[in-house]
Amino acid sequence: MTTLSDAPLAVPASLVEALAGDGPVLICGHARPDGDSLGSVMAMAAALRRRGRRVRTVCSDPAPAAFLAFPRMDTLEVTREVDAAGATVIVMESSALSRTGIAGLERAGAVLNIDHHLGNTAYGTINWFDEGAAACVEMVADAIDALGVPWDEEIATYLYLGLLTDTGGFRHSHISARSFDLARRCVLAGADPVRVGQIAYDSFSLGRVRLMGELLHGMRLEADGRLAVLTLTPDEHERAGSTPDETEGLINMPFTAQAIRAVCLLRNDEDGVTRVSLRSKGTIDVRAVAQQFGGGGHRNASGFTVPDPLEAVEARLLPLLLDALA
Ligand code: 5GP
Ligand code: MN
Repeated sequence: MTTLSDAPLAVPASLVEALAGDGPVLICGHARPDGDSLGSVMAMAAALRRRGRRVRTVCSDPAPAAFLAFPRMDTLEVTREVDAAGATVIVMESSALSRTGIAGLERAGAVLNIDHHLGNTAYGTINWFDEGAAACVEMVADAIDALGVPWDEEIATYLYLGLLTDTGGFRHSHISARSFDLARRCVLAGADPVRVGQIAYDSFSLGRVRLMGELLHGMRLEADGRLAVLTLTPDEHERAGSTPDETEGLINMPFTAQAIRAVCLLRNDEDGVTRVSLRSKGTIDVRAVAQQFGGGGHRNASGFTVPDPLEAVEARLLPLLLDALA
């Protein structure tokens, strides 16, 4: 990953023009939001408010509880349907409009689509995706600059949150010198990296810590110990005293072993639906695997959701993962 360009991202002029307009704006990210999705939404919201625009921030699922410590996070509306008729809607970090989990967005006056996932379906009136960005907030940072809004502590904190979490703590692929420039500017503008790091990584419940034990206890190894398979059902949650919204990041646990090249986490928390997360190291392409189930993501981090029982999904998935690892 030494060949990545760290040049500034090219913010389309049409996007800047749309952001610089007036009139109400609704900003949302993807369902089951993570730090980059929320960081992108909240940083852009803060910047547009600074320009005097009326802004609503919306998500189909609540933010992780610890994120309520961040500025104005309590104003994030949790809803699965909006009346967006005529409004300008900004969609962050979502490769398809359906990834938002919110109905009604298609009636918006204009949809501004900002994303860094390969395979974005260009569903917007204006589409800007750049797979070269290590996090969506890298794009948002450049868009805010293009708007001429100076960064305050709120903007800097949310940009830093997205950057920190989507790069896995500055370790994933796609990190470039630009990522570190962004981190430096965030800190200079008032982001507190220690506090953001604690909120993002060290603010979980004890139930989640026990869930780590349950998951690792049930971990199975395949492909000569290079693939770890984790399954998570309501039973594990009950034994651990955890809840289904506390699973973010757990898939990374087996990865700390050098021998592990790929991890899959299968979970069913809603009736009949199985959610799968896939992670890999190096050139192993788990996005291609997720695509075979209608999902997507990045080469080293992807996922999908199917309306089939966990065991059936696992039986179909394992041979494909073994192929990817071969
Ligand atoms: P996670 O495992 O954290 O839910 O998702 C990992 C990555 O896969 C994220 O980049 C996410 O955007 C992507 N992803 C997860 N589920 C889906 C899906 O159903 N469709 C698409 N297109 N991408 C997904
Ligand atoms: Mn995300």
